[in-house]
Amino acid sequence: MTLSSEQRVEKWVRKEIRDLSAYVVPDSSGMIKLDAMENPYSWPSELLDDWLQSMRTAELNRYPDPDALLLKGQLRHSLSVGAAHDILLGNGSDELIQMIAMAVAQPGRVIMAPEPSFVMYQMIAKFVGMEFQGVPLQSDFSLDLPAMLAAIEKYQPAVIFLAYPNNPTGNLFDDGDLQQIIKAADGLVVIDEAYFSFAQSTFMDRLADFPNMVVMRTLSKSGLAGLRLGILVGSPAWIEEFDKVRLPYNINILTQVSAAFALRHQQAFDEQAQLIRADRSKMYQALQSLDGVEVFPSQANFFLFRVESDRADEIFKSLKKKNILVKNLHKSGGLLTDCLRVTVGTEKENAAFLNALQEAL
Ligand SMILES: *Cc1c(COP(=O)(O)O)cnc(C)c1O
Repeated sequence: MTLSSEQRVEKWVRKEIRDLSAYVVPDSSGMIKLDAMENPYSWPSELLDDWLQSMRTAELNRYPDPDALLLKGQLRHSLSVGAAHDILLGNGSDELIQMIAMAVAQPGRVIMAPEPSFVMYQMIAKFVGMEFQGVPLQSDFSLDLPAMLAAIEKYQPAVIFLAYPNNPTGNLFDDGDLQQIIKAADGLVVIDEAYFSFAQSTFMDRLADFPNMVVMRTLSKSGLAGLRLGILVGSPAWIEEFDKVRLPYNINILTQVSAAFALRHQQAFDEQAQLIRADRSKMYQALQSLDGVEVFPSQANFFLFRVESDRADEIFKSLKKKNILVKNLHKSGGLLTDCLRVTVGTEKENAAFLNALQEAL
């Protein structure tokens, strides 16, 4: 008797994968989208024509430059990466996390991160058949340093991911704590600086101090989420190995050309980030003034806030009814119980959100 698809899946797809639920991206058409930390501004109109002009040179019938040398050269300059370090590009930093995990994966080996943090660290650990160990943050979302050091000692993680600032909590971890963690770890420590434009604190200038540290950036949160470009910087020894698991031509030609163009107009993006940082301060004060809301300080382009016990789902739905999409983290449990996350949008979007929230409360 022939087996059904379901029976074959049951037999052949790994149990860890069958047990996962896929990363859900909710439908947001027509909504004020404050759920995914995108930059709300498109390119200044005077740049649009120049950008389209630059796209004319892209030869879509050819494979892209496999090493994206032109783009890497520009990134080296704009990120001040010295000759002692190399750059690896990913189709978003998600792909870089995956490459790192693939390069170290071995049954029984551990990937570690504080908890709560960026969910892809844990998901990708499962994809590659590794074990994930989350170490709970303290109630103010700072690192529990003794617990981190004990977990490092116990599990000897192959990789530790530290989002700086952290997602979904928005805070920067203490610099001294991070240094102690990097020194205590034998494996690789990835400092994930996805929100660098909004925090302006970095470990990039300390790569030479730590042979087991690499720094990751992305263009996504600062205005180019649609391009999918992640950037990893570290010593050639690490980068060379990760590069071996990279699929050929992972950075498509439209991304290579567009990112190179964007870097030539860095100032426009810096101005947008500055505007978002200023609106962040206003939004913090507004959220702080609301009864029934506990907002946490943020160095990123979003806020985590806690509402009264057992009201998060209802408040999320009420916002959604008014066409405002935020992220409901209540079901994650733990420190995120009763918590929602909102991206800093345009002034108008922020006002609409604050109004709707006030009514929902
Ligand atoms: C959004 C985010 C990423 C993913 O960025 P992409 O480059 O879009 O894949 C990585 N790390 C953290 C902490 C993030 O919040």
